[in-house]
Amino acid sequence: MSAELAAQALLHGPGPAQRRALAKAITLLESTRADHRLQADELLNALLPHTGRSFRLGISGVPGVGKSTFIEALGLFLIERGHRVAVLAVDPSSSVSGGSILGDKTRMERLSVDERAFIRPSPAAGNLGGVTEKTRESMLVCEAAGFDIVIVETVGVGQSETAVAGMTDLFCLLQLPNAGDDLQAIKKGVMELADMVVINKADLDAAAATRAQAQITSALRLLGLHGRSDRAHHDDTLWHPQVLQLSALHGQGLDVFWAAVSRFRELQMASGRLAARRRAQDQAWLWERIEAGLRQRFREHPVVREALPQALAEVQAGRMAPSVAARRLLDGFGRAEPASPTSPADPATSASPSPPASSAASEAPASTASDVSCASDASDASDASPA
Ligand code: GDP
Repeated sequence: MSAELAAQALLHGPGPAQRRALAKAITLLESTRADHRLQADELLNALLPHTGRSFRLGISGVPGVGKSTFIEALGLFLIERGHRVAVLAVDPSSSVSGGSILGDKTRMERLSVDERAFIRPSPAAGNLGGVTEKTRESMLVCEAAGFDIVIVETVGVGQSETAVAGMTDLFCLLQLPNAGDDLQAIKKGVMELADMVVINKADLDAAAATRAQAQITSALRLLGLHGRSDRAHHDDTLWHPQVLQLSALHGQGLDVFWAAVSRFRELQMASGRLAARRRAQDQAWLWERIEAGLRQRFREHPVVREALPQALAEVQAGRMAPSVAARRLLDGFGRAEPASPTSPADPATSASPSPPASSAASEAPASTASDVSCASDASDASDASPA
């Protein structure tokens, strides 16, 4: 099917045909085949004018905190009020462990069978850069299909939280009622990302939930004072991170939660911060993809492949500083690169600002090449932003 036809099927409006088109489009986006990538790029471009109209909500929290219970309850709450809800996941562990989120089909049983909802597990694209890339693109496709609320779920481990905060309008952290006692999230720096903190399972221990709410509220205030100055501001036209408590299991507090989300959205739109946040996210996404593409081209370049073992040996023998070796390799690559034609196996690299790079790059078996250039791989995800 041409991109135009695929786009038409998606834009056609809700129904079984659209669901099929949506699932197919996302499968296309997740494919690692170069010809699929070209089709996917065309599809994305055709859909782009129809994207951006949803509200993008990021949800994170440790396994067991109640993410899927919460998202299901919230999803049902929202579709009852006329919304269409898409749920996507970012879980870089999914290709290794089978995934800790959305992998289990019994999760969100009621929401998943509802026509007005669409649930997609995490792509098994390997490294975080690959996973977030697919999820970001899937989000655009869901928006074009008319889902006006897109929820992106992630596990509260590692850099995936930063990645999800970097693709959503509001990032919400779920905590347990005893969270205030150790404030793990603060130590990890995740709290700084949160626009909202929700103490879930408040039904289990109301006193603990209230204590946690007070502790986290004051911790956020301190962060505002010492960290992000915009959050310390006592200006009613600006959003200040809020801490709420609820019980996802009993559906208690969802209305208060959604009222807070709506208030956030209004304030952010009125102040222009919503648009600015999305612009910054797009810019970061562009740079992240450029850097991932360059890294792959560098690693695969014959000149680099040839010179790398020697450079690595020099570094490991203590005869050359790593920085010097890196500079020499880069110089060699830079001199050779303009003359080298793009590999026919990878036509998308030259056709798109978002080459199908990072997943392939990181799935490559460990070699001397990756041993050297991998040093930056851990930051593949979202810290590549120059913004
Ligand atoms: P996830 O791993 O973060 O997605 O957590 P789940 O949604 O799978 O929830 C883990 C467990 O906590 C399940 O047994 C849920 O029934 C339970 N749970 C979730 N929310 C609540 C809540 O608000 N109150 C209580 N008492 N249990 C909850």
